[in-house]
Formats: sequence, C-alpha cells, structure tokens
Amino acid sequence: MRQIIHLDLDAFYAAVEVLLNPELKDKPLIVAMGNPRGRGVVSTASYEARRFGVHSAMPLFEAARLCPQAIIVPVRHHVYSEYSRRVMAILREASPLVEQVSIDEAYAEIEPARDAASVARDIQARIKSEIGLDCTIAVATNKLVSKVACNTVKPRGFIVIAPGEEEKFLAPLPIEKLPGAGKVTRTKLTRWNVKTIGDLANAPVAELRAEFGKWGLYLHQAALGQDDSPLVAESKPKSISEENTFERDTRDAAQIEKLLDEMCDGVSRELAREGFLARTVVLKLRYGDFTTITRQTTLSSPTAHAAEIRACALRLLRAYWDRRRALRLVGIGAHNLIEATSARQMELKW
Ligand SMILES: [Mg+2]
Repeated sequence: MRQIIHLDLDAFYAAVEVLLNPELKDKPLIVAMGNPRGRGVVSTASYEARRFGVHSAMPLFEAARLCPQAIIVPVRHHVYSEYSRRVMAILREASPLVEQVSIDEAYAEIEPARDAASVARDIQARIKSEIGLDCTIAVATNKLVSKVACNTVKPRGFIVIAPGEEEKFLAPLPIEKLPGAGKVTRTKLTRWNVKTIGDLANAPVAELRAEFGKWGLYLHQAALGQDDSPLVAESKPKSISEENTFERDTRDAAQIEKLLDEMCDGVSRELAREGFLARTVVLKLRYGDFTTITRQTTLSSPTAHAAEIRACALRLLRAYWDRRRALRLVGIGAHNLIEATSARQMELKW
C-alpha cells in the first residue's frame, strides 16, 4: 500500500506578505499582478478577502468592488520562490521522493515502513515553526485522493484517508471536486443525474465509456478513489497549456469556442496562481485526419487575463481554422512566460 502526502500552502503569496509585514495580519489582502486601472488580476487573496467573494484570476476592478477595503500589494515572485524552496527542503528531508506540482503544492511518497501520518504532522509543524507559514496536508494511498482530501480541509487542515476508505470518503463530495471533471464533462454527466462523486461511481461504466471513451474509464476509477499514477520529478513551467479532444470530431463553431473559453479560464487561473504573465498565446488545432497546426500571436503587453487570452485564441481560431474540416482536438497555451514581479509597472495606487 502506498502512502502519499499532499501538501498545499494556505493562501501562499498573501501569507508570505503577512509574514514580512505583520500589520497585514487578519486584513483582507490581495496580491495582484498588472495595473488595477486596466487589466490587473488577483493572484492570491487572503482568507479574509475570500470571504467577500474575491478569488484567484478575478479582474482586480471586480475584486475591488466586492471588497473595497482590501489592501492590494504587487506580486513578488522572487520572494515567494525563496520561501517555496525552504518549504520543499523540509519536505525533501522527510522523503527523497517529492513531486513539486507548483510553487505552493507538492506530493511526497512515504515508504511503507514509516507512519506517514506522523511524518506529515511533523512536516506541518516544522513549516509553521521554522518558516512561519500555514499549510494543509492530506495523507492517502494515492495522489488523486490526497489532493481531493487536502482541498476539503483548507486552511490549516490535516486529514488522513485510511486505506480502503477512499471510495467512501469521496462519495458525498460534489462532482466538481474531482480533478478533471470540468464544466464540459459535468454537463454531459447530468444525463446520469450525477451530482456527487458517489453518483459517478454508480453510473454505468459501459455507458461512460460509450460517451467519453478512455476518459470514461478514468472518471469511473477516479470516482472509486483508484489512481496508480506515480510521482514525477518536477520541472519549472516554460509554458502553461490545456488541450482537449472532442468526443466526436466537430465543425460546430459554438461548441469549439465554448471549450476554448473554458480552457482560457483554466490557463488564466494557472498563470495567476503561479504569478506569471504570458507574452505569447498559442492555439493548437488537430483535424480529424490528425494533421495538426499551431498558430501563435504575441501580445503588446504580457497578460494573465482570461478575457485577453480568450480574445487572442478566438482571433487565431477565426483566422486559421479551415471550417470545411472537422476538428478533433483544440489546445491553448500561454508561452514566453515572465514573472509578474515588477512593482514599478503596477501602479498599485487607487
Ligand atoms: Mg495553495
């Protein structure tokens, strides 16, 4: 039986800013990138700001409307990177097998002979006492369950899903908590009246396969809490992208644009979370006969804004998609990433 720890720092960028400036403690705080008057985006909101509905990737003007009293500070990527490095060093002392998923999130596999729960407790305590940061930790028998579990107990949470309890733990959770169950998938799942992960586990697997292909099998196994994916050594993102295969090749522009929309939101969220701006947007199109084209556009100023990424993606789609031919796959990528660190370009005065 494997023992997997999932660690996620709580409101990481905001927490570091509080650590460096205790006056910000317990206040609604927004770590932001970009110009608030124009195209600024929320990177991280403190939990106090989240209470007003502020969240990552939200345009700053909207965040300021929801929470006018919020204190807004610019993203300082290099500062957070250093704290991240210290956190990951503590994790690596506990286990040589660590997969860092992002600047504030990682998996560690603990060898079977050790008590993973007490190792995890120790890690959480050390990160608090030695660095001063809060994190949430989940322990489970695989990556999928540990990740889902972690999100259910944030912030400052700790949870252990015992071997054999995976399916029971997941069953009552709403379906959107399952990684990969995006809007498109969830819409299709309404056919089986799937509202919870348990509903999905009970959906007829043959029908899921017919509807989703291989992906249907993933959904079924995930709903049962089964996942044997290994931890993989990390690499820094050079780009952030998403792609999706249509279940049937399509020439339906509305369907294609809807999926693109959703993927642009995802890419924007990930950019904001990681504190990056993209200079280049890349569209990938694969036709039914597997011929694939990629076309890109470079922005006049770098962005993490979903609306701007979407506008680029749609321009590229309209310019380069041969509408006589059905598409099998579309992808959207943010390339040429730069760290959103410069306070000078931000003009964070209201
Ligand atoms: Mg986090």
